[in-house]
Amino acid sequence: GGFNVMSRLYNFSAGPAMLPEEVLKIAADEMLEYKTTGQSVMEMSHRSKEYQAIFDETEAILREVMSIPENYKVLFLQGGASSQFAMVPLNLLNKSGKADFVITGQWAKKAYSEAKRYGECKAVASSEDKTFSYIPKLDKSTFTPDADYFHICQNNTIYGTRFTELPDTGNVPLVADMSSCILSEPVDVTKYGLIYAGAQKNMGPAGLTVVIIREDLIGNAKDFTPTMFNYKTHADNGSMFNTPPTYGIYILKLVLEWIKASGGLEAMKIHNEKKAAILYDFLDSSKLFKATVQGKDRSLMNVPFVTGNEELDAKFVAEAKSKGFLNLKGHRSVGGMRASIYNAMPIEGVEKLVEFMKEFEATNA
Ligand SMILES: *Cc1c(COP(=O)(O)O)cnc(C)c1O
Repeated sequence: GGFNVMSRLYNFSAGPAMLPEEVLKIAADEMLEYKTTGQSVMEMSHRSKEYQAIFDETEAILREVMSIPENYKVLFLQGGASSQFAMVPLNLLNKSGKADFVITGQWAKKAYSEAKRYGECKAVASSEDKTFSYIPKLDKSTFTPDADYFHICQNNTIYGTRFTELPDTGNVPLVADMSSCILSEPVDVTKYGLIYAGAQKNMGPAGLTVVIIREDLIGNAKDFTPTMFNYKTHADNGSMFNTPPTYGIYILKLVLEWIKASGGLEAMKIHNEKKAAILYDFLDSSKLFKATVQGKDRSLMNVPFVTGNEELDAKFVAEAKSKGFLNLKGHRSVGGMRASIYNAMPIEGVEKLVEFMKEFEATNA
């Protein structure tokens, strides 16, 4: 085969991001012929018995790995997390027509702006005053008691913050954008009305969007909701109303099998905490580099950092690239660097990055 392990570099991209090498090898092995079906998964009819088996297995392992209760549906959709910014209000803003949002970054802001087109939305807190470098304190008395939902972006991919404590929303369904933290640690699904995530950070290739929704939230979409944007359409048809992203779902199956074989989400959490600690500990001791987020709000998945000097930042990113550390440039709104260290990033990747940062510091500080 043409698969050359030696040419794979450490990719710190925020998304699409690294996938486990084991997963890519299995996908490569099965590329031309899946088992004894005489065809690639990509070429299978989504209505075939062979593909349905892959699909059912994917859902079953996701349910097992995330302990998703019976009264939640799992939907495999397209359109990215960005489509959910509209799909959530179209389906959920159906009683009071009100919803609350915590503005913790650009994705949260986009979810808020889009929902505002369909109802009365309130930003209950924001951290925009300090470039979204923290999770704002929430005051329950500011929450809308009869809101149809309360939206958070659980891990803020661009700014490197995360919620470590969920807002107490009482009976108001909590909706979470988990695009950049799903499968990184265990979550109690029962605490949420709806969880959504684009696959390209921690689950598989771009093109697949996973929605985990409590059943009672399905079936009351606004009349003008496009058929394809109605959760009921997909729930009633087992995500096969139209052609689902078949290959992406298959890769998710392989990723979930890899997670399961690695010890599940508890093991992922330990693995991710270890990696993040290596990087943050170095940043906190460095004279040159500094993390942009402090304390408990620090993300385990996305670690932004700066030198305080834009030219030096650019030099670092370029030199890092030449040493095989890819995509370390920070988001344009934060500047500096960002290391995204999702499940698939091995510990050695972070250790080697820190080694390189130490060398860079020694020659540039
Ligand atoms: C990447 C990302 C998005 C956008 O995802 P698309 O699939 O490109 O629409 C939304 N929210 C968060 C938290 C993200 O990390």
